[in-house]
Amino acid sequence: MLNFDFQNKTKIIFGKDTENRVGQELKIYGKKVLLHFGGGSIKKYGLYDKVLHSLQEAGIVVVELGGVEPNPKLSLVNKGIEICKSENIDSILAVGGGSVIDSAKAIGVGAKYDGDVWDFCLGKAEVKDTLPVGVILTIPAAGSESSSGSVITKEEGLYKKAFGSPLIRPKFAILNPEITFTLPKYQTAAGIVDMMAHIMERYFTNEQNVDLTDRLCEGTLKAIIDNASTVLETPDDYDARAEIMWASTIAHNDLLSTGRMGDWASHNIEHELSGIYDMTHGAGLAIIFPAWMKYVYKHDLSRFIQFATRVWDVPMSFDDPQWTALEGINRMESFFKSLGMPTTLKDAGITEDRYEEMAKKATEFGPQGNFIKLEKDDIVNIYKLAK
Ligand code: NAP
Ligand code: FE
Repeated sequence: MLNFDFQNKTKIIFGKDTENRVGQELKIYGKKVLLHFGGGSIKKYGLYDKVLHSLQEAGIVVVELGGVEPNPKLSLVNKGIEICKSENIDSILAVGGGSVIDSAKAIGVGAKYDGDVWDFCLGKAEVKDTLPVGVILTIPAAGSESSSGSVITKEEGLYKKAFGSPLIRPKFAILNPEITFTLPKYQTAAGIVDMMAHIMERYFTNEQNVDLTDRLCEGTLKAIIDNASTVLETPDDYDARAEIMWASTIAHNDLLSTGRMGDWASHNIEHELSGIYDMTHGAGLAIIFPAWMKYVYKHDLSRFIQFATRVWDVPMSFDDPQWTALEGINRMESFFKSLGMPTTLKDAGITEDRYEEMAKKATEFGPQGNFIKLEKDDIVNIYKLAK
């Protein structure tokens, strides 16, 4: 097991009606908030009115910036930074999913930085300060509500890039599973794939002695798999929604990477799809993850066998261990299909013409992944396997 520091300072406030506590939680961070949200679901389903009421009761002045699109865009981040600077904003409240939260995080650091906020995505600047960010989560998926990362798309050139720092973890995240009852099936399913991917990025490691962390990963994956069909068939099943919502946070709060290094190639290979084609991130991962696994499984067959037997209940074949490993990957792929996710690039309408370009962009700053280092040609091969 590698040495590690583990500290996740995001306060989680979980359960029914918890959104009504937002004013009380936020007033610790000042009097003036930037209320940041997406394309309108929060207004349509009544959350916006509840949030405004709670903020007003706490005496907080609200400045609004809505309109965050899935795969959040740099231009809106820049608009948010301008508002924070000109209006002397004290804190940012993100009401939404990963896109709104990531946009809020980027606005938070940009508001405390004199240069171009894209510098953080290019690794040209390090986060030193941020406005505090609070969250009301509306979709369990990205885990951004307590993660140290943010992913932004620059429209010019369609670059989707991440930056990270423990300083950008939100101060608090309010998680009421009832708010997720209104999620469309497709978004619920894409969220499930994304949270599973966050666990699998951490699971496929070269560190061998990590039994506790392995079993935490396997248990969390099993809880997600067991509750997935219930949330798709019965969207207002509180208990199943609660399991999925808590799992999405646990998947990405760094507990499941303790003592080892994660891989993250699949995420970065996927970012080219959601950056260039504006695909839903989770749907892109349902295509890329099985292909990545098929490309790398021989690197550590026993780890893939463990994944197959413990997570997917594949029987161990001592005559043909490779079959066991591959059957685990097949069962995962079938599970993604059962959720209604695409599992090939063709399913998503993506043809071969841009594989080279995407692989080149993905390796612009060096090879991807830690389990195996992937160069440009490896990534082209993975896109081909995902064809
Ligand atoms: P999202 O992009 O924030 O939201 C997806 C869609 O769901 C939006 O159209 C939104 O509509 C709708 N929606 C959200 N909550 C809803 C509700 N309760 N009822 C009905 N519709 C609802 O989804 P996401 O998967 O959470 O975020 C994806 C982004 O996060 C990607 O850019 C991905 O790369 C990034 N990501 C970040 C991290 C990280 O650690 N920072 C990790 C993984 C992925 P409205 O816009 O109308 O609200
Ligand atoms: Fe993700």
